[in-house]
Amino acid sequence: LDVISTVEPRVADATAAELRDQRASLKLIASENYASLPVLMTMGTWMSDKYAEGTIGHRFYAACQNIDTVESVAAEHAKALFGAPHAYVQPHSGIDANLVAFWAILATRIEAPELAEKGLKNVNELTGEDWESLRGKLGNQRLLGMSLDAGGHLTHGFRPNISGKMFHQQSYGTDPQTGLVDYDQVAAAAREFKPLILVAGYSAYPRRIDFAKMREIADEVGATLLVDMAHFAGLVAGKVFTGNEDPVPFAHVTTTTTHKSLRGPRGGIVLCQPEYQPAVDRGCPLVLGGPMGHVMAAKAVALAEARQPSFQTYAQAVADNAQAFAEGLMRRGGRLVTGGTDNHLVLLDVSSFGLTGRQAESALLDAGIVTNRNAIPADPNGAWYTSGIRFGTPALTTRGFGTDDFDRVAELVVDVLSGTSVGTTKDGKPSKASYVTEDGLAARTAAGAAELLD
Ligand code: PLP
Repeated sequence: LDVISTVEPRVADATAAELRDQRASLKLIASENYASLPVLMTMGTWMSDKYAEGTIGHRFYAACQNIDTVESVAAEHAKALFGAPHAYVQPHSGIDANLVAFWAILATRIEAPELAEKGLKNVNELTGEDWESLRGKLGNQRLLGMSLDAGGHLTHGFRPNISGKMFHQQSYGTDPQTGLVDYDQVAAAAREFKPLILVAGYSAYPRRIDFAKMREIADEVGATLLVDMAHFAGLVAGKVFTGNEDPVPFAHVTTTTTHKSLRGPRGGIVLCQPEYQPAVDRGCPLVLGGPMGHVMAAKAVALAEARQPSFQTYAQAVADNAQAFAEGLMRRGGRLVTGGTDNHLVLLDVSSFGLTGRQAESALLDAGIVTNRNAIPADPNGAWYTSGIRFGTPALTTRGFGTDDFDRVAELVVDVLSGTSVGTTKDGKPSKASYVTEDGLAARTAAGAAELLD
C-alpha cells in the first residue's frame, strides 16, 4: 500500500479501509467470500500486461507462452475438479461466461448447421440475403429460465440484461405453497414454449436442484440445458452436491463465477460437452477481448486450492452452517422462503418483522451485519424495496465460523429486526426506506458481532 500511496493515496486509503471494513463486520452476502493470500497475490502481477487474444497455442499475438501455461493449468484444474470434458477459463465475470455460453449455443445449434448446409466453413463466406437470413434466425430464438422473484439471475433472460433483449424469453417460477421448483410446471412450460435454451441455476433460491430432471425436460423438447452454477460452484467442487445435484454431467453447458462459494478471483468459467467446445473456445473474439492473464493465473491457484481435501471440509461446513443459521432464525420466529435451506443461502421474509428488505438491510448494516435485500416470490414491495433479506454462509465459514457461531449470528439478526420499526416520510406516512431502531441496539449488536469475530 505504501507503493500505491506514493502515486494515489486515496486509492491506498480506500484499500486499507476496505480491509478493515471487511474484517470488522459479519459478511453475510451470499455471493461474497475471502480469497486466499496466494489468490490475491497472483492477481497483482505483470501477467496483466500481456495481450493474448485467441486460445491456448493459437494466439493472435506473439510471445504468449506464459499465458498459454497459466490458461492451460487453470483449464486442467477446472476439468479435473468438476469432471468436465472441457473448460474455458477466459470469461472476465459470470455475465461474460453466460454470454459466451449463449453465443456458443447459438453458433453450434443455429449457425453451424446453416453453414454446413451451404457447404461453407466461415460466416464471412455468407453474403447478401443468406447473411441477413442467418442474422434473423440468431435473433429469433427462445430461452426459458427461472424467474427473478423465484431466485433466477438477470442474465437468465431479463430485459435489463442483454439476455432479455437477444432472446424471446419466458420464465418458470416456484410452487406458491412450498416455494420449491415444480418440475412438472417447468416441463409444461418447456413443452408449450419450446425453448432453444433451458436455463437452470439461481442467485437466491435456497434449495438444491435435480439436474437429471432438468436434462430430461430439455431432451424432451430439444433444448440445450445451460446450468449457471455461479452461486453453488463451491458446493459442487467440495462434493456436497453429488449425483443429480451435480449439474456438470447433465448440462450441455455449465457456467460459473469463480469468486463466490468457489473462493477464487473475480471471474467466470464455461464448462461444456465436446460438441460445444469449438464454439466455446471462440469466446474471444465472439464476445470477449484479450483474456486477463493475471486473473486466469489466480483462477488456476484457486482451483488448485479447491482440489485439496480441506476444500471439501470447507464446503460441507458452508452447508452445515446455513442449516444452523436457518434453524436459529426459525426458532426465534423468522419466516424463511421454502421453510429452510439445503445449500449455502437463506432467504428471510422480513415482512413478519413489519419491515421492508430495504429497512432491514440498513438496520442490520448499522449493527455491523452486511447483507443484501432481495425480492421474495410474488414480492408486494417489488425489486427495489423488497420484502426479503438474503444471507449466505461462504464468507464467515472461511473465517472459521461453526454452527454455534451461526446460531449466535441468527440471534443478533433477530434482535436487530425485532428492535427496528418503520419510520415515516416527510409528510408523516409510513416509509418503505426509513426506520427507527431501539436506543443502543445497533451498538450492542456490533459489540456482539465483534466478539464473534475476535
Ligand atoms: N450468474 C449468477 C447465478 C449470479 O448470481 C451472478 C452474480 O451475482 C452472475 C451470474 C453474474 O456474475 P458477475 O457479477 O461476475 O458478472
